[in-house]
Amino acid sequence: MSYSIAIIGAGWYGCHLASSLDALGMETKVFEMNARPLHEASGNNQFRLHLGFHYARHYNTRMQSRDGYMRFMERYPSLSGQVVNNIYAVPEQDSLMDFLTYRLIMTASGIDFSEAIDIDFKINNIEGYLVTEERVLHTESARVYFKQRLGDRLIFNQKIESIEEKADKVYVNGECFDYVIDATWGHFRKPPMEVFYEPTILLYYESKDTREIFPALTFVDGPLCSIYPTEEASLYTLSSVPHTPIGRFSSSSEARAVRNQLNQEFVTSKVKQMEAQIAHYVPDFNERFRFVAPQFSIKTKPIASYDDRSCHVFKQGRVFSVMSGKIDTVFFATERILSMLESLENLQFAKVPSMLRQEIGSAEYFQG
Ligand SMILES: Cc1cc2nc3c(=O)[nH]c(=O)nc-3n(C[C@H](O)[C@H](O)[C@H](O)COP(=O)(O)OP(=O)(O)OC[C@H]3O[C@@H](n4cnc5c(N)ncnc54)[C@H](O)[C@@H]3O)c2cc1C
Repeated sequence: MSYSIAIIGAGWYGCHLASSLDALGMETKVFEMNARPLHEASGNNQFRLHLGFHYARHYNTRMQSRDGYMRFMERYPSLSGQVVNNIYAVPEQDSLMDFLTYRLIMTASGIDFSEAIDIDFKINNIEGYLVTEERVLHTESARVYFKQRLGDRLIFNQKIESIEEKADKVYVNGECFDYVIDATWGHFRKPPMEVFYEPTILLYYESKDTREIFPALTFVDGPLCSIYPTEEASLYTLSSVPHTPIGRFSSSSEARAVRNQLNQEFVTSKVKQMEAQIAHYVPDFNERFRFVAPQFSIKTKPIASYDDRSCHVFKQGRVFSVMSGKIDTVFFATERILSMLESLENLQFAKVPSMLRQEIGSAEYFQG
């Protein structure tokens, strides 16, 4: 069965959903309020194609990442790049978990790693480390890919203000569709789960020696920090669990207002805090790297005491909403939506009488 589906938001989720649903014969149209795809969180993050190493404390998130990573590599082979020496290190004092427990959780989760590299830079205060195959997302290639793939089904500079359900249809800014998918990460409508909005700051750094390839270095597990390469050679992001978040807000508009008024003084104080944190583990960080610019974004997070970044899909009337956690879970979102659509079709299917007795009666047990 084919449906017309409006998708609000051209982030990773909206674009992936549109191209997957199109391939199945649905008529999709993506409305994006900015002038290009992947303009908000999908273009302003740490660009890590997760495999599960970040989520030692959440089983579902780890499993979704492990499976999503493999599917991402199959479906979008040219939209991520290899990371040379991608290290997850467990600090001696500051981690919520000791190294052997961390290692055991990853082994039991079936997530591959090795321990076979020599670290050839100064690193302090760690208990142990694993080397992973996590990759870096290529955002600009993804923008070009989705623009080509979706063509004029991607409508830019169109902010959705209203959706209204009438009879068996739904009207999006007055235009009629069978269904709507809210893929705005909770910015159009708050998802039907408890969430908060967190403005964030990451810092871009470039290596002073552009011939040198510094590894990706992530300290786990808990209020720690990481340095991760980008798609651009010699350019890295520095992120910090305690210093990246800039407050916690119950509405998207409050979080946006805070993000949009941050000033130079604020950035300078964050640079100081984040450099002090990374220097505890990488003492010559400032000799190796030069600060380039801040990156601002907004995270929508579930209110939960545990570390849930798994993807959830909800359906209310003719409106689906997607609450993502990371980019690798785009496949999970598509499957949930398809399965919900199929179950709606099954509800409409009239039950037919059983033919079993008739079939049994006519069966021939003995032949010859
Ligand atoms: C600091 C930070 C670091 C992160 N690091 C990683 C990482 O390393 N790896 C990873 O996998 N994930 C990471 N994430 C999470 C990841 O960025 C998100 O899960 C993902 O980008 C969400 O994609 P999305 O398509 O749901 O939302 P978005 O990318 O936010 O897209 C939503 C789109 O909806 C549009 N929109 C909103 N309202 C309307 C409206 N009314 N009308 C029309 N359009 C509208 C917006 O303009 C936007 O383009 C990080 C996030 C942050 C903030």
